[in-house]
Amino acid sequence: MAVQGEGRMFIDGALCWAASGRTYPNINPATEAEIGQVADAGPEDMERAIAAARRAFDGTDWSTNHAFRVKCLRQLEAGLKAVREELRDQVIAEVGAPRGIVEGPQCDGPLEMIDWTINYLENFQWERESGQYEVMGAKSRHLVWKEAAGVVAAITPWNFPVQINLAKIIPALAAGCTVVLKPAPDTPWCATIIGRVVAEHTDIPAGVFNVVTASNPAEVGEMLCTDPRVDVISFTGSTNVGRHIMALASATVKKVFLELGGKSANIVLDDADLGSSLLSNLAVCFHAGQGCAIATRLLLPKACYEEGVELVKQYFGFISQGNPQAKDQIMGPLINKKQQERVLAYIEKGKAEGARLVVGGGVPAGLEKGFYVEPTLFADVTNDMTIAREEIFGPVLVVIPYEDEEDAIRIANDSIFGLSAMVWSASDERALRVAHRLRTGTVNVNGGNFLGPDAPFGGYKQSGVGREMGVEGFEEYLETKTVAVKA
Ligand code: NAD
Repeated sequence: MAVQGEGRMFIDGALCWAASGRTYPNINPATEAEIGQVADAGPEDMERAIAAARRAFDGTDWSTNHAFRVKCLRQLEAGLKAVREELRDQVIAEVGAPRGIVEGPQCDGPLEMIDWTINYLENFQWERESGQYEVMGAKSRHLVWKEAAGVVAAITPWNFPVQINLAKIIPALAAGCTVVLKPAPDTPWCATIIGRVVAEHTDIPAGVFNVVTASNPAEVGEMLCTDPRVDVISFTGSTNVGRHIMALASATVKKVFLELGGKSANIVLDDADLGSSLLSNLAVCFHAGQGCAIATRLLLPKACYEEGVELVKQYFGFISQGNPQAKDQIMGPLINKKQQERVLAYIEKGKAEGARLVVGGGVPAGLEKGFYVEPTLFADVTNDMTIAREEIFGPVLVVIPYEDEEDAIRIANDSIFGLSAMVWSASDERALRVAHRLRTGTVNVNGGNFLGPDAPFGGYKQSGVGREMGVEGFEEYLETKTVAVKA
């Protein structure tokens, strides 16, 4: 049965098409077939959305009526869960993620995490008295108030669209902000369905939440970054676009929150069990490597380097690849032709720079239709090669040998990125000691997983600014006001 998606945007409380009437095709990356048409916004649509969000923030009690927001967010949570099956089918069709991932971190996981933020909102302390202080003979009581930060522009990528859309809009709305969501052009349905649920299942006032879809991200996306009526940019995407957005937002000194790229290391220490720690490298095939926090650099001690490379090669042989609808499919396609060509170009670059291609490296036989790339393993990689330095965002793992623990830490930290890392050791204490030395926002130790509604996620260095999820993720959408009352 053909999957249906919502082609309309959601602006100022109404489901709508672009004012120009323009639409663009939504493409299934597994088949290259068109699965529907989506509204293709122009500047006039974005102008309406920003104006509506500003009006709703300034002209309603959305930001101050905490109990009403709890009620509305519970309605939104129930509404999204009611369309869970439809959403799953849409994610498989437009993202190309296999069902197993969709029923996990792509779709079901994020739906289950909404509850955490609403509970946090219900118990949040909006005001506190920090103390009293005397200045030039006059004493003041200091009150510290937390307030919603204002109008939020949420700009999101295509790789985990449901998860990332919800990780932004739920805390932003919970904090009392109003939102304009601009999803990636490749995954519009994962955003437009939220607009439809808000329209049909909630009392969320007009203008509080808006979705604007566009085939040209720069045209309408940059309006969000420069418009003085927008207070916060919450962006997830590539480091290059993040830099550009930060520069654009500086003219009006917006609060800018960035979740960017990564080139994370998996450090297998010399006392780790090789068999189980190397299994974790199959993560590079997870969603065809299109995950920002996936460990794409494997760091192995020189003493067991060849044994480790051979083991990973064997593990890659277990990966099934193809139609993401198929039961137990492990790996699907990349999102689009451009991304497929980009990944294949990196593979060529790796070969040209002298890395040893152990397995993979091309388009899998029989999967010429769709945007597939084989699980690819490179050995004899040095950390200065392009394939070790740049984010490939595909199923490509590079294996780098190291001398000792100190050398492993040095190589792991020798990157412009600092998103995530993994450490394996026979001793948790030793692995935790290494984790302390890593300049990354998350570290998975001995098979632990950072994912959870309570766990702040984000990057050091050029992997970002700020944190998503958890208490820190909620506070990104707050301002702090100090009020001094003469004592
Ligand atoms: P991208 O940077 O190309 O696009 C991200 C979003 O920005 C999209 O909505 C896009 O339409 C929009 N955009 C592009 N140019 C813009 C402009 N000039 N003005 C305003 N908006 C603009 O990223 P992508 O290709 O969609 O996603 C892959 C990237 O996202 C990878 O680099 C990955 O590491 C990163 N990512 C990071 C995290 C994280 O949490 N750190 C999570 C997922 C993905």
